[in-house]
Amino acid sequence: MLIALDKSGQVINLLCIKTSEVADLKTQHLLCPACQQRVYLKHGKIRTPHFAHVTLLSCAYNSENESFQHLSLKKALFYWFAKTAHVTVEQFLPELQQIPDLLVNDKLAVEVQCSMLSAARLRERTKGYQSKHYQVIWLTGKKLWLGKRLTALKQQFLNFSLHVGFYYWEIDHSKKELRLNYLIHEDITGRLHYLVQHFAFGSGELLTILRQPFLKTGAQLRVPPQQNIAAYIRRQLHYKHPKWLKIQELYYHHGQHILAGKQDMNQVFPVGLNYLTYQFEGLKVPEFCQIIRPIKSYYRQFISYQHTHQDAPLYSPLVYATVFEGNLKRT
Ligand SMILES: [Zn+2]
Repeated sequence: MLIALDKSGQVINLLCIKTSEVADLKTQHLLCPACQQRVYLKHGKIRTPHFAHVTLLSCAYNSENESFQHLSLKKALFYWFAKTAHVTVEQFLPELQQIPDLLVNDKLAVEVQCSMLSAARLRERTKGYQSKHYQVIWLTGKKLWLGKRLTALKQQFLNFSLHVGFYYWEIDHSKKELRLNYLIHEDITGRLHYLVQHFAFGSGELLTILRQPFLKTGAQLRVPPQQNIAAYIRRQLHYKHPKWLKIQELYYHHGQHILAGKQDMNQVFPVGLNYLTYQFEGLKVPEFCQIIRPIKSYYRQFISYQHTHQDAPLYSPLVYATVFEGNLKRT
């Protein structure tokens, strides 16, 4: 952690004091702002100076095994925000019993997530912020970068806007950059396809960069033609992949064959849209705990557009909404 309270209850922020003053803290009586227990300064040669609890058991809010990566990313973001915004680091929010890594202009919580956590814990922390009307943005560290496939946990980091569709923030300690993955789609084999935008640390205004998903973009994504889908499904059934056996069963149940008419099928979809089963089960939206806006109409508009535009690239949800609403006005 980077902050502590001194004897008089003043907040000491290691990112805001002079280097020459840091050493003096070694002999001071210091407390954790969250649990009020004793902390002390750790000041090694390699790691950023930071505070640690005297006894490991004492604090429910801080994890002591905070990595070098996490500490230095917090530091970099703090200075970047501080150029243009009011920012605090590790401010304890009593109404939530949570400590966001950074709190910007008293309403935006920015969390740098470098270590694994359970999807349940992520959901709980996100809902906590939402319930008290804080906006929260999760920046994922290396272990949680989006990569080629979605996991149950990564699904809960996904966010959504009409301008860029599904998006996902990554933070890169070694390249010193933020990345916005957007227009995220998934093909029928579970592989992800998306565009990436890079922002070097310190370049531009960070709040503006974080608002990027809400700015107009003409972005589109072309995914090269996929493999023979019927052959792919046949192979999955041959190896008794549970997911595909379940879909096959659903088709049988409705007197249809899963492979019938699949040759020319569109194979890339917005994340979470189960194209193969919606005709039987209706459009189901899986849980995305970051996403508050309803996205069923996006799924619906995507499907109707793709029916008549097989070779079109993938667009932002706004494009489908505009086409769809345009059609409505004409009829
Ligand atoms: Zn504590």
